[in-house]
Amino acid sequence: MSIVPSTRNTVSQRMRQVSKSGIRRFFDLVSSLEGVISLGVGEPDFVTPWHIREAAIYSLERGYTMYTSNLGMLELRQELAHYLHTAYGLDYDPKSEMLITAGVSEGLDLAMRATLNPGEEVILPDPSYVAYIPCITLAGGIPVSVPTSPENNFEVNASDIEAKITEQTKAILIGYPANPTGAVMNKEQLAQIAEVAKRHNLLVVSDEIYARLVYGVEHTCFAALPGMRERTILLGGFSKAYAMTGWRVGYAAGRAEIIEAMARIHQYTMLCAPIMGQVAATEALKAGGEEVKRMLEEYDRRRRVMVKGLNEIGLACFEPRGAFYTFPSVKITGLSSEEFAERLLLEERVAVVPGSAFGQCGEGYIRCCYATSLGEIEEALRRMGRFVERHRLT
Ligand code: PLP
Repeated sequence: MSIVPSTRNTVSQRMRQVSKSGIRRFFDLVSSLEGVISLGVGEPDFVTPWHIREAAIYSLERGYTMYTSNLGMLELRQELAHYLHTAYGLDYDPKSEMLITAGVSEGLDLAMRATLNPGEEVILPDPSYVAYIPCITLAGGIPVSVPTSPENNFEVNASDIEAKITEQTKAILIGYPANPTGAVMNKEQLAQIAEVAKRHNLLVVSDEIYARLVYGVEHTCFAALPGMRERTILLGGFSKAYAMTGWRVGYAAGRAEIIEAMARIHQYTMLCAPIMGQVAATEALKAGGEEVKRMLEEYDRRRRVMVKGLNEIGLACFEPRGAFYTFPSVKITGLSSEEFAERLLLEERVAVVPGSAFGQCGEGYIRCCYATSLGEIEEALRRMGRFVERHRLT
């Protein structure tokens, strides 16, 4: 008789509903090959600015190696409250309406677990960030996808959201600027979603991790729309704009009652975000503005080269106005997005992510991240051009 419990008994039913991220499989393949140019990972190629690293190093020298308050360092929460006030005119009490999380990743999980009852539905755009659906499912909720398309620059329509509302709908989950499409929604469009939320008494979880990475357009903070502060969980972070992915710091802001519930989960499962990361994030908020601007200008240069280059080689691509992704169509090759990504990697050593990893509406597209050097982008475009020439449907 076997003494090892079978997988069926060991892994929970809920866990079996969640599949491995489609992105990971590609990265495993990439790491087994040589000479690959990666447009795959959604991560800045910049190192965290020196003054931010230095602040963390100095804090270590002074012996800052302990837990912080469960809610996060008060100084960081105060800096964040100041930032949200200055940037959007939003006022949050740093003592009761803000929580420092281990990245937006944790914030998403907490937001779902703190608010969803079993079977409650969360409406979200398709395609969207890979963690959204698993976070909803793991919290016992049901994801309800709203299709988006390049005809509307992958922006989600308020009336399409409204059409999906049922008795069970609890929340809308949006994230603009968007991963994987780079779409940004303007104030008027977001205000229409806010009206839907009000009309149907829904919560809105707004993942604004790319808020500072916008090109020639203004970011609208969802919580700053009239009447939305009370019904929005605002999630933000440091990973992208400050090139701080490895430090694991993010934040949630919202009504005290919701933040308190999220903090209770956080207290038992995470305890606190890493202190080094919190010190670094405080420095980033205090003095990181210029560095963000410098990196943003560089991303913008790369963005233009990539959008132009992709369109020239026949991979039609709308102009993304935020984050650091392009989302071109690969339909002229007749390959599925997985086939395209896999064959491009094996034949030309360029890694991209199949759009299908982000939802059904991502099929026929690939995600190309331009947070890599201009030289690499230009070489990747040459390789992709050769690939498309060979596989183009005649
Ligand atoms: N939200 C979106 C839309 C993202 O693209 C990412 C990372 O790629 C995250 C959240 C996770 O960010 P963090 O590093 O803060 O956990």
